[in-house]
Amino acid sequence: MPRTWDSLITVLSEITRENCVALACCPHCGNRHTYIKWGFYSRYLFNDELINIQRFRCDNDLCPQKTFSILPHALLPIIRASLCMLMHVLTMYEQGETIAKIVRHTDSNWPRMQRWIKKALSIRDWFRQEYDIRSFPCLSPGKFWAPFTRDFTWAFYPERFR
Ligand SMILES: [Zn+2]
Repeated sequence: MPRTWDSLITVLSEITRENCVALACCPHCGNRHTYIKWGFYSRYLFNDELINIQRFRCDNDLCPQKTFSILPHALLPIIRASLCMLMHVLTMYEQGETIAKIVRHTDSNWPRMQRWIKKALSIRDWFRQEYDIRSFPCLSPGKFWAPFTRDFTWAFYPERFR
């Protein structure tokens, strides 16, 4: 694996591990007080290590969702690539690199790279419509990450809402 991609993966995985939070706020109703820990589910980091993601149950009767979890930046819902990784791949593609070269650069395979490029294009289009492009959350996630991942799930995986 080329070193730039390799170090991106390592750094992103470390950042994600450090961003796991114990305290939360329900992203659906804003409830900060009446929720309880409600098990875990596992996600792969970008370097293929597994981590546990805390799930919470929101006890606000008016909340539209029963459970929620707060994904640590830089994990995205469902997809096993970060925004940085997707945009990195998209940039290579738009600079005219062949899929074969991108596959080698990322130590990946054709079907995955085709999926990622397609996904990266639709994420960028969606992002430009929804947000100020200068605040792309990969660069300064902060408090923006929880509402961002909630909006992202609504936009791209409405049927798989967690
Ligand atoms: Zn709630």
